[in-house]
Amino acid sequence: MCAMKVFAPDYYSGFRCTAGACRHTCCAGWEIDVDPEALQRYRAMEGPLGEKLRRCIAPAPEPHFILGGQERCPFLNEGNLCEIILQAGEDALCQICADHPRFRNYWSDRIEIGLGMACEEAARLILESPRPLRLVPLPEEAGEQPTVPSEEETELRSCRDRLLASVPGDGPAARLREYLIYRHLADALYDGRVEERIRLVDRAFERITEGWDGQSVQDLAEKARVFSNEVEYDDEKLEQLLTE
Ligand code: SF4
Repeated sequence: MCAMKVFAPDYYSGFRCTAGACRHTCCAGWEIDVDPEALQRYRAMEGPLGEKLRRCIAPAPEPHFILGGQERCPFLNEGNLCEIILQAGEDALCQICADHPRFRNYWSDRIEIGLGMACEEAARLILESPRPLRLVPLPEEAGEQPTVPSEEETELRSCRDRLLASVPGDGPAARLREYLIYRHLADALYDGRVEERIRLVDRAFERITEGWDGQSVQDLAEKARVFSNEVEYDDEKLEQLLTE
């Protein structure tokens, strides 16, 4: 049986959630939807955790965790650790929590995975990477059949790769621009808006680096984190930036 090739930037495997040490936990401030498969597992779970899960999930049509004070996930304990992981292990997480801060782009013949900068640890890892973005293979995934890319898709990937190869300079600003190209160009797979997405990369880069002293990686990571939280996960704001 055919399997799908999977690629990710070389820093990807080095990512570890810093959990209780994270200053900006991703488990607050978002509505976290619970996917049908996790919902089924949660409904069958026994004991106090199962009872709490059933109490803290809003019913259909959009099951999600009912946030508490300061919009915190009801399973985030005082030490900013996840009670679901502590009591049932990482495999018990719903899809969104298991994936975050990763994103995936589905090409016809490969899947490309990345880390999103909404996570402070991912932002640090990306900006501190000592080399230009380089994709490395991960284990192939069964289940999806690769197909031959169309001409448009082949041209889109070449365009993306040319942009990556022409990023000027080195250091954190270059890593930021590479991230934006890698994250946003592939969305043209779904809507064909290549030129607009190239301009979006420029606008996003300008917005994130505005007021940056050109030195502090920590400051740049924080600016990128805020931008990613506010724009990359908000379809309306992303659309605004595309059409500005
Ligand atoms: S933002 Fe990143 S490091 Fe912080 S809790 Fe979420 S995944 Fe972990």
